[in-house]
This record gives sequence, C-alpha cells and structure tokens, in this order.
Amino acid sequence: MPLNSIINLMKNQDVDIIFLNDPKNVFYVSSYRSDPHERILAAVLFKDAKPLLFVPALEENDARKTAEEFEVVSYMDTQDPWTVLATSIKARHSPLSDWSIEKDFLTVERMEALRKHFPTATFDHNISATLQEMRLIKNEQELAFMKEAGYWADEALKIGAKTLREGITELEVVAEIEYQLKRRGVAEMSFTTMVLFGENAASPHGVPGDTKLKKNQFVLFDLGTMHEGYASDVTRTFFFGEEPSAHQKKIYDLVLAAHDEAMAAVHPGIKAGELDAVARTIITEAGYGRYFNHRLGHGLGQGVHEFPSIMEGNEMALTEGMCFSIEPGIYIEGDIGVRVEDCGFVTADGFESFTHTPTDIGAYLKLID
Ligand code: MN
Ligand code: MN
Repeated sequence: MPLNSIINLMKNQDVDIIFLNDPKNVFYVSSYRSDPHERILAAVLFKDAKPLLFVPALEENDARKTAEEFEVVSYMDTQDPWTVLATSIKARHSPLSDWSIEKDFLTVERMEALRKHFPTATFDHNISATLQEMRLIKNEQELAFMKEAGYWADEALKIGAKTLREGITELEVVAEIEYQLKRRGVAEMSFTTMVLFGENAASPHGVPGDTKLKKNQFVLFDLGTMHEGYASDVTRTFFFGEEPSAHQKKIYDLVLAAHDEAMAAVHPGIKAGELDAVARTIITEAGYGRYFNHRLGHGLGQGVHEFPSIMEGNEMALTEGMCFSIEPGIYIEGDIGVRVEDCGFVTADGFESFTHTPTDIGAYLKLID
C-alpha cells in the first residue's frame, strides 16, 4: 500500500505532516480520483494521526465511499477552505512543525495560505520526487488496469480500420472511433485521438482535419483510453491499399525493425538511454536519423507524460514494473510519416506490451477481415 509506505517514510525522516494537492498524488495515496478544477483537493498525512482527505462539499459522498482509510472533511464554496482545513489539521493534535510539500505542484498562493495558518511551521521538505519514484513502479492492480486500457486501445484501432474508406475525412474516423467506444462503455480517451492521412502524418503532433482518404496512403492512428484512472497509448500506421510502393515499404520496415529491436532489448537493468540508442541506431544507420525527431518513449500511468523518459542521456536503469512507450518514427515533410508504438512494462526478463494489434505492413487487411 502506497499510503503505509509513505507514512513509514515520514517516521524515518524529520517530517510531521505531508500535504498533497496534485490530484494524481491524491489518487495514488487515497484511491479517490477527481479533477477539482480551481477548488482545493488535498490529502494530508500525519505521523501519528488518521490521514485527512479534504474535498469540496459536492464531492464529499463520493470521497467517503472511496477513501476508506481517510477521514473526509469538506467545505462549502461559501466558506474559506483554508480556515476549514487548518481547523481540521490542528484538531489532530499531531506534531505540525515540519511539513513536506509538492514543490513541483503547490502554487505560491496556496503556500502563502498555509504559512498564514501555520506561522511557526517549516515547509522545507519536498515529497514530489519520492512520489514520482514510487509511482514509477506499478503494482499488480495498476498493471491490470493498464492492460484493460490497452485492450480498449486495440479495440479502437479495430474500429478505426473498419471505418476507413476512400473519401472519408480524418475527423470522421476520429468521431466514429469515439462514438463506438462510448457506446461500449469507454468514457474517456487518454488524449486527443489522432488520425492522420498520408503526408499529414509527417508531423508527429499533427491535428486531424477534413483531409479525405485516398487509396494507397498510410493512415496513422495514435490513441488511448482511460480505465480506472490509468491510460493506454498506441500508434499504428496502416497501409490503406493492396500494394505499398518500394519507398513506403522501406520506411515502414525500418520503423518496425527499430520498434521490434527495442522491444526485444528491454530487460531489468538496461538504461533508458541505451534503449533509445537501440532503436535510433537502426534508423540512423539506414540514413534516416534526422527524421526520427523525438525520444523513443515516455512513461505511462495515470497519464501519458510520466517517468521514465526513454531518451538519450537518461542514465536511469529500467526495473521490473516500470511502464513506458516504445515509439520510433520517421517523418519526412511533404512526403510520409510512420510511427509504430506500444506501451508495456518491464518484466523479470523482458517487456510485456499492453497492446497487441499486429504491427506488420499488412495489419490493416487482417483487421478488416
Ligand atoms: Mn506515446
Ligand atoms: Mn501515442
């Protein structure tokens, strides 16, 4: 349990109280997931008292149902939340001198509010890095959620493949994918669904529009779904036609080789930078290095921008339970864009992907069968 580990950690340090207000960290320690917008949502952990979950009144019932190990305290919009919060914290009669805060998330305004109510406290400790590190390694439950999110990403690709026809626009394909997923109970995508035709895919962060699909084009799908607060992320570049040109096939096979070699190279102990190099070397030696213009991958969890970053210069050794993407690509302006991406986790001796859609250049024909 993350909560117990963190509280144990406090006991070994000179920390009396931990104040968390990043909704992702709050979810991680309490299981309560919410986007409070501008309102305050906080988990407050004490050395010697029951932890407190502080929520807007409209969320009180949901929070109580979920965060069983917490005392839930709520505030009305008409109240000053800091006064309510400070009163509940002081009522704990637990030491309150040394605070640990999220230095990468707590705003100056909120910091000032805390200082006002706790003028003799110090706020020197930073809990951000500790939580980031803990969240790097996913437990069985988290992995199960991510596998389920991956299952739905594969389903989304199937829907997308079956929707393709000459003349359809990128946005129409996006709409069909999300419509069918929602009908099947998938409430949320993990980021804006990307469907790009032909040379539009030459921009790694392209935006789907009203371009119409033509025969013998590549179609790049980059999408993901959320499941129980965890994200999936997959990219396939389908060939829409019968016979790719020699150029299309060459670029595709190169990206696929980089993807496959990198997947096969993962094992506990390999450094993130080394893994990036496995894929990059293949593309660079074929003469296309400058067209692979982003890192090999990123961490994945509650969002698609977590740690570890799979990039040159990152000396972090990858260990069992870490989750990240492997997504080499080649993007040639005005010509072609190909990326193949899978997300997965490090196992005792390799890498297991959350997504399983075929990756070969004939994958499209298999999916519409
Ligand atoms: Mn990705
Ligand atoms: Mn992606």
